[in-house]
This record gives sequence, structure tokens and C-alpha cells, in this order.
Amino acid sequence: MNFLEERIMQDGVVKEGNVLKVDSFLNHQMDIDLFNQMGEEFKKRFADKSINKILTIEASGIGIACIVAQYFQVPVVFAKKSKSINIEGEMYVAEVESFTHRCKNQVIVSKKFLGPDDHVLIIDDFLANGCALQGLIQIVQSAGGTVEGIGIAIEKGFQPGGRMIRNLGYQLESLAIVESMDATTGNICFRDSSQQEKGKSGTL
Ligand code: 5GP
Repeated sequence: MNFLEERIMQDGVVKEGNVLKVDSFLNHQMDIDLFNQMGEEFKKRFADKSINKILTIEASGIGIACIVAQYFQVPVVFAKKSKSINIEGEMYVAEVESFTHRCKNQVIVSKKFLGPDDHVLIIDDFLANGCALQGLIQIVQSAGGTVEGIGIAIEKGFQPGGRMIRNLGYQLESLAIVESMDATTGNICFRDSSQQEKGKSGTL
């Protein structure tokens, strides 16, 4: 087990509805030493990529993205969730369905902060159905930029997002892939890193 899998086993709580609660260290209270380990690992996995910007989505991607950005020494842009409709023109807009809140949000990024010269690493805390990532990819494409890779803390491998994104040909690196989890027993099983799909760089 790697450092993140160990932490999930120690402090993660499996909730009904396929939700893994990790708010004691990842997306409410944040363990910055852990985030630094994640930053170091993403830097290794994307070592051959030339990345000049990190893109994430509010709110829980922001903390991780900022620490990861210190390893790449690049700025972070976060997509904002917005209810306003009169923003096209100065903004790139994508529609994202929220897994946890089960609603649709428009997410926006100012055209000032993303453009055709950008080589982007997308970072997020979770990957479930892949809606958030699809929205972020769409925004980079609208800007004429390049998605160099995608780094995720926790992928729920039993949901379709990971497969869908890998099938699109992106280098998707998830630090922990939950293969199955059970809200009744609290059991969590991880995908063996040797079985991980295309794009994996092996053990941590
Ligand atoms: P997706 O768009 O891939 O379905 O879901 C990704 C987003 O939903 C993430 O940005 C994350 O905030 C949230 N999310 C998805 N699954 C979980 C989960 O099991 N636990 C928590 N805490 N957030 C999740």
C-alpha cells in the first residue's frame, strides 16, 4: 500500500451512496505533509511533460493543486462554479454535474488566464463519473491549450470516469484507486498498482 492508501485505510469513512469521506485529511481539514507527498509523486509521474499551468475546480481541488504547483513551479487556475448566465465572451464555460450534490453547475475560467500556449496539468481530489474532468478538459480545449496530463488523489475505480478518460488517450495518474468499498462493513479494497491501466508508472 502506498502512503495515500494507508491514510485512506486509517482515516477514510465509507458512506452510503458510494461516497468516501476523507474530510479529516483531504477536503475539509487538509494534511499538508500528505499533500507534499502527493506533489512529489505527481512531479515524478509527469516528469517528461512540460507543464506551465495547473487547472483545478473549486473548492476541494484548490488546496491540493496549490501544493502540487510548488513542485512544478507554475501558477494554478481554478474553475469557478457560477450561476450567472451573462458571462460568455470573457469566460470559457462548461457544464458540470456534481457527483456529491447531484446538481448541474456552470464552471467558468476567465479567458485572461488560459490560452493556446498553455500546457496544462489538471488536478482534482476525486474521480468518480468523470463529469468534473470532462468539464475541465472542455475548457482547456476551448482555450486552444493542451492537456498534458491529469492527476487525481482518489479514483473510485468502480465508477466509469477513469476508464472513460483513459480511453480518450489522456495520461491519467490516480494516487489511490478504490476498487470496491462497503458502507456496511467499512471495507475498502484498492486496485493493485501492477494491474493499473495504461499510463501507470508503477509503485510509489
Ligand atoms: P465526478 O465528476 O468524477 O463524478 O466527481 C468528481 C467530483 O465529485 C470531485 O471533484 C469530488 O469533489 C466529488 N466526489 C466524487 N466522489 C466523491 C467521494 O466519494 N467523496 C468525496 N468526498 N467527494 C467525491
